[in-house]
Amino acid sequence: MKLLIKDARIISPADKLDQIADILIDGSKILKIGKNIKAGAPKIIDAANKIAVPGLIDMHVHLREPGREDKETVQSGTLAAAKGGVTSVLAMPNTDPAMDSAGNIKLLKDIIQKTANVNVFICGAITKERKGKELVDIAALKKSGALAISEDGNSVDDDNVMFSAFKAAKKAGVPVICHCEDLSLSAGGVINAGFYSTKLGLRGISRESEYKRVSRDINLAKKSGSHIHIAHVSSKESIELIAEAKKTGVNITAETAPHYFTLDESAVEGFDTNMKMNPPLRRKEDLLALRGALKEGIIDIIASDHAPHTENEKEIEFERAAFGVIGLETLLAVSYTELVKTKILDWPQLLMKLTVNPARVLGLKKGLVKEGEDADIAIVSPETEWVVEKEFFLSKSKNSPFINKKLFGLVEYTICKGSIVYSKG
Ligand SMILES: [Zn+2]
Repeated sequence: MKLLIKDARIISPADKLDQIADILIDGSKILKIGKNIKAGAPKIIDAANKIAVPGLIDMHVHLREPGREDKETVQSGTLAAAKGGVTSVLAMPNTDPAMDSAGNIKLLKDIIQKTANVNVFICGAITKERKGKELVDIAALKKSGALAISEDGNSVDDDNVMFSAFKAAKKAGVPVICHCEDLSLSAGGVINAGFYSTKLGLRGISRESEYKRVSRDINLAKKSGSHIHIAHVSSKESIELIAEAKKTGVNITAETAPHYFTLDESAVEGFDTNMKMNPPLRRKEDLLALRGALKEGIIDIIASDHAPHTENEKEIEFERAAFGVIGLETLLAVSYTELVKTKILDWPQLLMKLTVNPARVLGLKKGLVKEGEDADIAIVSPETEWVVEKEFFLSKSKNSPFINKKLFGLVEYTICKGSIVYSKG
């Protein structure tokens, strides 16, 4: 089936494309880009004053299936993704069972095939049952379709196991995504260690628990020559270590999430459990350092770390509440509002971090609006102002730290492999 998008400002930074034109989609591919395309397309989208960008690629998403379908499923999570302009997600492996074998990956692939609304790619675990002891068969996971490995939710404590993982990942040609947390330094903490943990009487998670582990993992990656990707960077010291590693030629990339460059630790003052995540919201100083690192390219990628939790797990005392927040549906708007409206990044620079760079890390031929490529496109009204409400979310869970926040940039349509998977309507 043909679909014609008329008069959009098309921004595709991988090819330095930024022009007003039409896009003709045929089947799952982009057939033609040009001015005044005349085609008998049964469906035409008027995109005047809107921008058409590559569908977002969110490489840090918890879909909770299999195992915790009460929080999210592949179906509900990918509907949320589509609403946020996200056409590809990388599903993290901390499911039940964990993605630690070819058999479990096959199980998830079957669910994806039956119920996903956007592209879902799979990240394998590093150790069996994510217990940190016995390495998975990384080559077998890669063969069954895993694009990366990660122990996300945990860090592998044993240096030898982690070094073996890097060596095997190098051999298999997959990146290792590191959740950097030294539990001996963070144990029991619920918010950033510092002024607010003292003021509120809550146990703190030090920045050290993150950056010490970043430092260890960089050293192991360096020795093995493997591609290391640091997940959800939250602290200034971690940024400094990543910058230094990049200078010395380590094969390293890094991501942060919108809440870390938008909110600081003061947000927990009202004991709102939607402000509880791991790593925690840090100091203003860290927030500003993250913005600088995004501008300078030290941080390559923005990912949501979409972590749905039910109300039962969030609407309880702060200490007992689950860590994590949802983010697929607000990824683009928060990033645009906080980074482009403030002139830290321009549109093409932002889209590098939301589309092109994650595609490169994962080895996907995506993140492009280009003739012949997959028709994964988001159409956005950049200047539409809106307020995030709980009812807005299609995710099964509503634990967003951005409820009541005023944002710019609203996704009007999301097209995945040539099909309209979301329209604001
Ligand atoms: Zn993590």
